[in-house]
Amino acid sequence: MIKDNLKNVKELIKDTCKKSNRDKNTVTLLNVSKTYPLSDIMECYDMGERDFGENYVQELTDKIENGPKDIRWHMIGHLQTNKIKYIIDKIYLIHSVDSLHLAEAINKEAEKKNINKINILIEVNIASESTKFGNDENETIKLIKDASVLPHINIKGLMTSAPFTLNPEDNRIYFKNMRLLLEKINNMNIPNVKLTELSMGMSGDYLVAIEEGATIVRVGTAIFGERYYPNKK
Ligand SMILES: *Cc1c(COP(=O)(O)O)cnc(C)c1O
Repeated sequence: MIKDNLKNVKELIKDTCKKSNRDKNTVTLLNVSKTYPLSDIMECYDMGERDFGENYVQELTDKIENGPKDIRWHMIGHLQTNKIKYIIDKIYLIHSVDSLHLAEAINKEAEKKNINKINILIEVNIASESTKFGNDENETIKLIKDASVLPHINIKGLMTSAPFTLNPEDNRIYFKNMRLLLEKINNMNIPNVKLTELSMGMSGDYLVAIEEGATIVRVGTAIFGERYYPNKK
C-alpha cells in the first residue's frame, strides 16, 4: 500500500517535472512521516527514500535514535526554543523558522555545540492566514536581513503551507508569489543570502507547487494514508 502510493507519487512528480521542463533531480520529495511508525518509514527507505519530515521533537528524536543513520531528517513543525538542543546536531534542515528570536536561539545552540552552520528555511505565511505561523512578505524580508548576520545559520530558502483547499489550482497564485518573493530577496543582494530552496506543496497541491518552482514538496497522507492523532490535535 505505502509502496504503491510512493511509486505513484514519484511517477506524478516525474511527469510534472517533464511537463514543466524541469529536471526531476531539482525536486526533493520530503516524506512527511509524522504520526506513522518507523516500520512505515522503512517501507519508503527500502525503496530508496532518504528525506523524512517530522513535526514533533519527541517523535523526531525517537525516530532518529531508532532509524537508519543515513536518513536526512527535516523539522517542519513549529519549533520551541527550549527544544532546539534535542535536535540541532541531528537535523538536516529546519523548515519552520518564523522569528528572529528562534533564529538567534538556533545560532546560540549551534555555537554551544560547535556546529559551524545550521541550514534553515524561513517560514512565510503567504496567504496571510490568521491561523498560521510565519510572516508576511515584508516581515520575511526584515527577518532574513536580521538573521543573515548570525554566523552559525545558513538561510537556504523559504517554506510555506498554502491554505487547505479541495482545488489545488486555488493555491497556484500563492506558490507563484513565493517564487517571486524568493527572486526579489535574491535580487536585494543581502550579504550571505542566496536562496535556492522553496519548500511548498503538500498532498493536495504538490504538483501545482512543482509547476510553480517548488524544490522540496512535503507529502504525507498521499504516501502513508490518513493520519490519526491519538493524543495530539
Ligand atoms: C503534516 C504536514 C505536511 C504533510 O501534509 P499532507 O497533507 O499529509 O501531505 C506538510 N507540511 C507540514 C508543515 C505539515 O505539518
